[in-house]
Amino acid sequence: MTMSDADVASRTNPVGNGKRRRGRVTSVLRRPLQRPELASLGGLVAAFAVFTIMRPDLFLSQDNGINVTSLAAQYGIVAVGVTALMIAGHFDLSVGTIVGALSGATTTRYIKQSVFGPLAEVGRMDVQRLDEVVAALAPRAFGVLRRLIAEPSTVGQETGAQEVLAAELQQLGFDITRLMIPETIGSDPAAGVPSRSYAGRYDVVGERGDGRRSLVLNGHVDVVPAQDADRWSSSPFVPTERDGWLIGRGAGDMKGGFAAGLLALWALDEMAPGWLTGRLTVVSAIEEECTGNGTLAAGRAGYTADAALLLEPTDLNVLLGGISIIWVSIEVDGRAGHAEAALRSVNPIAAVPAVIAALQRFEQQMNAAHLRGGDAAFSALSHPYNVNVGTVHAGDWASSVPAVARLQVRVGHPGSWSSEETLERVRAAVVEGIRSDQWLVEHPPRFALTGYRGQRHAQDPDAELVTRLSGAHASVFGRPPDQVMIGSTTDARFYVNQFGMPAVAYGPRTRNMHGTDEAVELGSIVDCARSVARFLADWFAADPVEQLR
Ligand SMILES: [Zn+2]
Repeated sequence: MTMSDADVASRTNPVGNGKRRRGRVTSVLRRPLQRPELASLGGLVAAFAVFTIMRPDLFLSQDNGINVTSLAAQYGIVAVGVTALMIAGHFDLSVGTIVGALSGATTTRYIKQSVFGPLAEVGRMDVQRLDEVVAALAPRAFGVLRRLIAEPSTVGQETGAQEVLAAELQQLGFDITRLMIPETIGSDPAAGVPSRSYAGRYDVVGERGDGRRSLVLNGHVDVVPAQDADRWSSSPFVPTERDGWLIGRGAGDMKGGFAAGLLALWALDEMAPGWLTGRLTVVSAIEEECTGNGTLAAGRAGYTADAALLLEPTDLNVLLGGISIIWVSIEVDGRAGHAEAALRSVNPIAAVPAVIAALQRFEQQMNAAHLRGGDAAFSALSHPYNVNVGTVHAGDWASSVPAVARLQVRVGHPGSWSSEETLERVRAAVVEGIRSDQWLVEHPPRFALTGYRGQRHAQDPDAELVTRLSGAHASVFGRPPDQVMIGSTTDARFYVNQFGMPAVAYGPRTRNMHGTDEAVELGSIVDCARSVARFLADWFAADPVEQLR
């Protein structure tokens, strides 16, 4: 303890009558001021009053009471240390600096809470009410989903579906950019091989909010064709509900994911209008199903963030990674002619079975090598590398021998091979398989990359993105989600491989993706939205100050 100047003055200067009354008044004030703990109490009352007036709903809440008392306990520990030092007579200024810095951080935190957003409110969100709001808004999400399915957004026809999403995002307060894909994107080493012009075709990018935390929500509007529509139980682009499932091309892959994302955003906006304390970017990409160039273009244009969540259908598992994939076209030449002269002609269709058999052997060899000790990240999969002959085209008339047969093949392959190296391996395997055919030896088939040049990706499961998403899922289901890898790919590969961002896919439950009667389970869209809303709230409530402490 030290004596104040006032103490010293009152002892050395005896006071007269006139001064005595004033002296009595000041001594009323002086006594409390001599007790530093009372001064602190005054400060506390002042701070309490200021924050109560600024945000009475928040500052006086039970949650904030918990915050304050937990912080008080931490400062109490520091105070005990300071007291011990002072008693020992070694008052260390650096301790004061630490206390000052911590108080500054705490004050910043409370000011942010009071003025910029109800962080504590979101961090300890009333999840029961959130689920009620999600459930109440679900029919609206199903309505958007039906409108999306009714837009047959196969490659080249994406505009209708993109505009449905642009309008929805605009209503949610997003700034909308229609991002044109550069025609030159094919020369990007990470790009797929474009099959058509990008004129008039675009990604829709929505941006909302600003702040230190950021996130990309990514999805794709393109769907695979539904060529064999007569095999469907209902028209592929007429959404049809049956037993809690909505049937339609793209219902599962992945328009249902967009429905879940919108539902989560609506619910958060209704429940906690200030929840978005950072920057949220929604990327609705094109060409996920053939090149990935839509998402690549968005990333190259700078639409990146701390992490990316892709709302692809994962049956509510967390999808961490996928294999490398290329698309290969194989052209087999024949000698065209009249069927009457078929003996002098060479029908290329006859060579197709040998080509397919060679591709099957190639597939078996890749998977056998994998089982002997391949890519450890995919060790849970016994057969990750599928070679699929997706189309065979030849001929135009029953009485003509066709000039050429064309195959479109999708080849899943180990990540240690580049796309070009894999193409050469495919060529070598086919050439080996047809070497007994003199015509084909003299007229070797032609091989070319025509779409995917997708690189393997594997997200580190320890990333904050995975932890928080798993926590959000566990809050809904009572247990963490399964973490899976697939023998396929998603646009997440660009975020992980090209843009250095953690990225995973998480989305609704589906049936017959890319097949006949593709469908999404409507209940799983609601469940997905419950998880995604929790995740978003948690992601943006994660206070940078909190993380520094
Ligand atoms: Zn998809």
